[in-house]
Amino acid sequence: MKNDNVWQTAITHMTVWLRDQFPEEDLLEMQVGRFVASFAENLDRFLTQYPLESTLSRSELALLLVISFLYPEEETVPREQLAQQLFSLAPDGKETVDNACLDLAIAFGCGWRPEGAIVSEIKAGRWHRAIVALRIMVEGSLHQTFKLITPLLPQQYSIFSGSMKEWGRFYSNIITLELANNRCRCGKHKQSCKSKGDAYACGQSCCREEHQISSWSPAVCSLQAFIAHSIRGNAGSQLKTGALITSMLYPLLNEDSGFTIDSVEFKVCGCCSNPTVLEALAQHKEPQSHGSVMYEGNSCPECDTPASRHTTYHKARKNWILIPYEFGGAYEMHDRWRCPRCRNLFPVTLATCPLCSAATPQRKTTIWVYSPWLRHVDGEED
Ligand SMILES: [Zn+2]
Ligand SMILES: [Zn+2]
Ligand SMILES: [Zn+2]
Ligand SMILES: [Zn+2]
Ligand SMILES: [Zn+2]
Repeated sequence: MKNDNVWQTAITHMTVWLRDQFPEEDLLEMQVGRFVASFAENLDRFLTQYPLESTLSRSELALLLVISFLYPEEETVPREQLAQQLFSLAPDGKETVDNACLDLAIAFGCGWRPEGAIVSEIKAGRWHRAIVALRIMVEGSLHQTFKLITPLLPQQYSIFSGSMKEWGRFYSNIITLELANNRCRCGKHKQSCKSKGDAYACGQSCCREEHQISSWSPAVCSLQAFIAHSIRGNAGSQLKTGALITSMLYPLLNEDSGFTIDSVEFKVCGCCSNPTVLEALAQHKEPQSHGSVMYEGNSCPECDTPASRHTTYHKARKNWILIPYEFGGAYEMHDRWRCPRCRNLFPVTLATCPLCSAATPQRKTTIWVYSPWLRHVDGEED
């Protein structure tokens, strides 16, 4: 055990330094933003200005600095005790890097407690500044996600009325609260969670682990990566539409701007698709997407062959981004039969599959159809 003096000296110096660098009269958001954005540099600057003859390790000093900054002044748990507690939760122990120390303190201050950890002496309360830090991280991740989504949208369609900045702020407030309270309302469930009537077995509105800060594991990923996963379904720099559906952001976007990811009816060109696809079509089998020339208009954009119900295969394409008519887009939902034999989609006014003559199945399917030319005309159904 290092003697109390070492800790106490460091704490005293940090308090003075922090007050000087992050003056109270600055907006809290600004203070926290600056502190978090360049945490390692802040620690370096502190150490240069206060060259402690300290026996504390860099990780210990990092944890102490972030606690000194985030932990509420009026709370009474000794900073040293908190730092040691967090240190014991760090999977890399003495090797914990600066940003991992920052993550630990932010998560802890937002109520995160790792499974099996003994944190008896420390109140479970949340720290206001830690919540602000989490919100800033969430907002950053939202803007990254907006940047990934924007190029996938139809031209001239803007996902937000008003400023993207305001929507980022608005959504970050909602998502941070739900994430920190482990009470997401997105309506998504784990695959193992079965529905019982109107409700789900878990009894919650969402039971996806990545929507609850309590399931973050510092041994698995950084807090920022965890947040990216919560917000857009994966932490990579490429957007995966199938994963985005399961995210915390998707239901908000869907409700507010109509942004939809779902199956869409596509035509498969029976002339210029690759030979494996043409062979599948000839045998009345569903062609694979790979090698298919797929399109949504009246004729194939590659070879100009016009589409026809009697010769053109209509295929469901999963996880397609679309904007419905009601929101200024070009898609509407239609009823279809899905052929039980060749899986071709065809209008419900037909009694047999126009491609293979199989009888209609028991139940209709609904699917989005690109129909930019005119709104649905009564009686016309295609
Ligand atoms: Zn959720
Ligand atoms: Zn559930
Ligand atoms: Zn073609
Ligand atoms: Zn068929
Ligand atoms: Zn129609």
